[in-house]
Amino acid sequence: MRTARTAQSSALELAREAYRGISLYAPDRSPCAIDLSDNTNLFGVPPVAMSRLQRAKASTISRYPSLYAGGLKSALAAYRGVDVSEVVTGCGSDDVLDSSMRAFAEPGDVIAHSEPSFAMIPIFARMNGLRAVGVPLLPSYDIDAEALLATGARIIYVCSPNNPTGTLASTSAIRRVLSGSPGLMILDEAYAEFHGSPLVIDAELRGRLLVVRTLSKAFGLAGLRIGYATGPAALIAEVEKSRGPYKVNALAEQAAVAALTEDREWVDRHVAVAVSNRERFADALRKLGLAPIASTANFVLVPVPDAQQIGASMRRAGIAVRPMPALPVVGDALRISIGPWPMMETALAALRVSLACE
Ligand code: PMP
Repeated sequence: MRTARTAQSSALELAREAYRGISLYAPDRSPCAIDLSDNTNLFGVPPVAMSRLQRAKASTISRYPSLYAGGLKSALAAYRGVDVSEVVTGCGSDDVLDSSMRAFAEPGDVIAHSEPSFAMIPIFARMNGLRAVGVPLLPSYDIDAEALLATGARIIYVCSPNNPTGTLASTSAIRRVLSGSPGLMILDEAYAEFHGSPLVIDAELRGRLLVVRTLSKAFGLAGLRIGYATGPAALIAEVEKSRGPYKVNALAEQAAVAALTEDREWVDRHVAVAVSNRERFADALRKLGLAPIASTANFVLVPVPDAQQIGASMRRAGIAVRPMPALPVVGDALRISIGPWPMMETALAALRVSLACE
């Protein structure tokens, strides 16, 4: 025991100082009958992508994948209407976000982000020796452009639709940040497909804008870990250097290309069902006397009196949601992913019981 503790403390002395306060990402992921906690695609996997995985050749597994996922970049470029040189991929958008921080900020620099927003940003910042500065969202849930600019950050991270609120950053606020900041803006659009209307930013403001997206949500491929960024070719080249070769595995690349080129009808159809179920679910929450925040994503954030207790009680009933205690601007809330309606009905029943026990 004593030896283990001694080894642990000398490892801490060997580790980078910025790493000492980092703990492993550990949301409660114990198995649950219905898991509405991580905003993945609860309708399943796109069918052509699935059959490509099932029929993979042995050589796809025994050989290395392509260096920088050229085939996937072409499919993504066609999907997003950009040039191949304007796309970089990664092992999940987590990897793209992490690599972008490394590419565009020196240790000690500031990255500014809204609060509440994607919980991994301050962690990736720390892993790269950066200082994360949180700026509360406005009461309207828009980003506070002036306060973000006032941080003097080297990178400003904006998530829209925002996780966990599901709300959008206004185009005017995004334009203001882009025109007022000398540094990079990372715009995380992980949930863009559920919102639908693409953001329009004037060409002269796009020079320092990196848009990060994922195939983990609308495309149903979270387990394959595929993320990407689009932006000016010069910025993309820096992210690619920072991320390094072989980051997208060969099976994942093949399935992702199939999803992007042959499964779009499946993806669009299930996005439409998720959006309609989201509105129906929000209505049902209002009927329970709750006030969910209007969402543009595949989840809903709903303020509740005691998030930990209600989340734990729903979990005991077999429904996992994400309890979010004491969020800035919002207070205690549950973030609930949207899936097929029977799942949502079961979640509503468990929530009703858990609220009654409060
Ligand atoms: N950005 C946001 C806003 C997210 O919510 C998530 C996943 N929860 C990610 C990025 C990371 O997604 P992935 O690494 O699966 O692409």
